[in-house]
Amino acid sequence: MKIAAPKGTRDILPGEITAWQHVEQVFAEICGRFGYQEIRIPTFEQTGLFQRGVGNTTDIVQKEMYTFEDKGGRSMSLRPEGTAGVVRSFLENGMASWPSPVRLFYNITAFRYENVQKGRYREFHQFGCEAFGASGPAIDAELISLLQLYFQTLGLSRTSLHISSIGCPVCRESYLEVLKKFLQPHLDRLCTDCQERFVKNPMRIIDCKEAVCRGITRDAPAQLDHICSDCQRHFQGLCDNLDSLGLDYIIDRKIVRGLDYYTRTVFEFISENVGTQGTICGGGRYDGLVAAMGGPPTPGIGFALGVERLLMELAAQRVQLPQPAPPTVYLAVTGSMEQQAASLCFALRRAGVRAQTDLLDRSLKAQMKHAGKSGAQFVLVLGPDELAAGTTQLRSLLRENVTAVVRLADLPDLLCGLQDRPAAEQDKIIDDYASTSAI
Ligand code: ATP
Ligand code: MG
Repeated sequence: MKIAAPKGTRDILPGEITAWQHVEQVFAEICGRFGYQEIRIPTFEQTGLFQRGVGNTTDIVQKEMYTFEDKGGRSMSLRPEGTAGVVRSFLENGMASWPSPVRLFYNITAFRYENVQKGRYREFHQFGCEAFGASGPAIDAELISLLQLYFQTLGLSRTSLHISSIGCPVCRESYLEVLKKFLQPHLDRLCTDCQERFVKNPMRIIDCKEAVCRGITRDAPAQLDHICSDCQRHFQGLCDNLDSLGLDYIIDRKIVRGLDYYTRTVFEFISENVGTQGTICGGGRYDGLVAAMGGPPTPGIGFALGVERLLMELAAQRVQLPQPAPPTVYLAVTGSMEQQAASLCFALRRAGVRAQTDLLDRSLKAQMKHAGKSGAQFVLVLGPDELAAGTTQLRSLLRENVTAVVRLADLPDLLCGLQDRPAAEQDKIIDDYASTSAI
């Protein structure tokens, strides 16, 4: 049997890891600025949590979940998203009594059994935020401003913010009547899924990706045009807040979030580059969710951002991301001085220097070649002569004629000072050393 990674999963290799670490660190840092604290939740939960928290009529629960029975006969599912688990944790840990609003962020893997395409995987990563306890539109705008600042800090431009309101249970009822009346004459042309949705959850038909359904719903009445006065006020408040923060947005009547329990504000960040999988981030208000999960009525709002799609967008916009750091120094060994080289290498590492040495008994020539390939900035040779003299020649592998004879004892401090400095500063440090070391 040939073993291969499961379809829809990918390895994140060392060459791309610094880009991942960068987007993770910047996200955590910006969340911190806004008062969001990190939470880590389990990878799997009881299946019932997602049935209630995501919604039994959603594609995610009906078609996309990885569900299994554990050895105790309980039905478990790999998390298809983060909100349900965060809400469970909110209730289980009594966060309703924490100072309000409770602001949380997460960085998770999520699992969905999907048709694998570019930007659509079966295991993928999401960054998300959830805020509990604030019902006014100010926190909606604050959350959106966090995302805007995040994208801007990463160097992304040209991602557009789409917003709408999908009302509340009060105005949803009457809207669904209007929508059903519109869809009724086309019912037999809708896809089989949508025919079922027509009975269980007609709003979801607007979100269908089938071409026929898209064609039919193009002129469907939008929830935004049928929201009650309270929801209208909330939406206007959101627009006012976004305006005063100077954030651009597009009012998009077609946004329907894929999850149940969403109320009022819905938003998406859409890219022009990621193609049909153009939604990088989706979010919205879920004022009914905490109560639906058995907790006290608690307003909530959140978003989830697809990290793979974010990285695709950064690549498409040619944003430079950090590359893995090469060694600062390579210690080439001659004359069986491996142990001495290993202890000097350890001393350098203790001092904070990225240092490498030969462990494979290579010839000096092969070591030099290896040093070059490793991207090391400096090289030095350590053999019987150098150890006897207590000095060695430090040489730049990137710039010719940048060399100095250096005391072995000075190497940790000197290399620490050289590490991660621009070339001109490195040259100056080496010149200064050479002129003051009196070797
Ligand atoms: P889509 O309409 O593309 O299926 P969705 O509405 O199912 O998205 P959400 O549940 O809102 O997506 O998840 C939030 C974000 O997670 C999406 O905007 C997207 O960036 C990302 N995402 C969702 N599903 C996948 C997937 N299978 N692979 C990679 N990223 C995904
Ligand atoms: Mg989906």
